[in-house]
Amino acid sequence: MQLTIKTTLCCLLFLSIQEINGQSIDSKSLLENIEYLSGDDLKGRKTGSEGNAEARAFILSEFKSMELETQYPDFQQEFSFENRRENKTYENAVNIVGFVAGSESEKLIVITAHYDHVGIGRPTEAGDSIYNGADDNASGTAALIELAKYFKKNRPKHSMIFAALDGEEMGLQGAKALVKDFPFPLEQIVLNINMDMISRNEKGELYASGTYYNPSLKTILEGAATGSTPKLLFGHDEPNTGRDNWTQSSDHGPFFSANVPHIYFGVEDHVDYHKPGDSFENIDQKFYVNAVNLILKCTLALDTELTQE
Ligand SMILES: [Zn+2]
Repeated sequence: MQLTIKTTLCCLLFLSIQEINGQSIDSKSLLENIEYLSGDDLKGRKTGSEGNAEARAFILSEFKSMELETQYPDFQQEFSFENRRENKTYENAVNIVGFVAGSESEKLIVITAHYDHVGIGRPTEAGDSIYNGADDNASGTAALIELAKYFKKNRPKHSMIFAALDGEEMGLQGAKALVKDFPFPLEQIVLNINMDMISRNEKGELYASGTYYNPSLKTILEGAATGSTPKLLFGHDEPNTGRDNWTQSSDHGPFFSANVPHIYFGVEDHVDYHKPGDSFENIDQKFYVNAVNLILKCTLALDTELTQE
């Protein structure tokens, strides 16, 4: 009993110190948002679908209520692309893009997460055909919303763009559109931070991939993540390692191709990857909240330590 009370007090104290310093995200809101975005009502958020539009409307209302700025009409960057696999042109894909001006620099950190997923597909034996995409990538999207909220309240040194991207599952289309039609010169971007699948890992490990190309980023992250839970690992970014190389595996890919340094936060694939079982019930809530707080800590360190000139 003693121990329990002490532990509880200790936890409360720990939480309140974090909150006084303002260095943690709103975990309640984070979990509510991932649950909503991965709910059956949104039917897997496939690009072009009604569920995808509902997810977008939700993100849009969040960005508006926190009074982010934007360079796009009503926060929306519309784009079209051809999906060769389906032999179909998607005319109405939309990225949602918000902006926070930096206190010391016009140089940009661009934070991205895709909100689309694969929609409805082959049912399981139990008859579940909705691919909820809780980890992939309602987890990154809900984290993006909380990071935007945090940096709107706690102004960063660098300017920041928060982009919820569409069309990732059809070939990183939203990121390609954003890089192609970016509202500032690309040289102004010091870093892309991409989040895709950050809510579960049995070994308690989160990867920060991409530092192979920019070792100085690794030094900053190692400092920020000393003794962290989850454990922050590096790798999956060496050239010529085939499927083990994640450099083009998500939305950081088009930034890499445009010579923009990137950090990709993500976990290794799990049994529910691109399956109906990637649902809210199967994420690890504790892992997820800790992972997003770790990403916040890393982002704060990068914002402080990266050059602002
Ligand atoms: Zn994904």
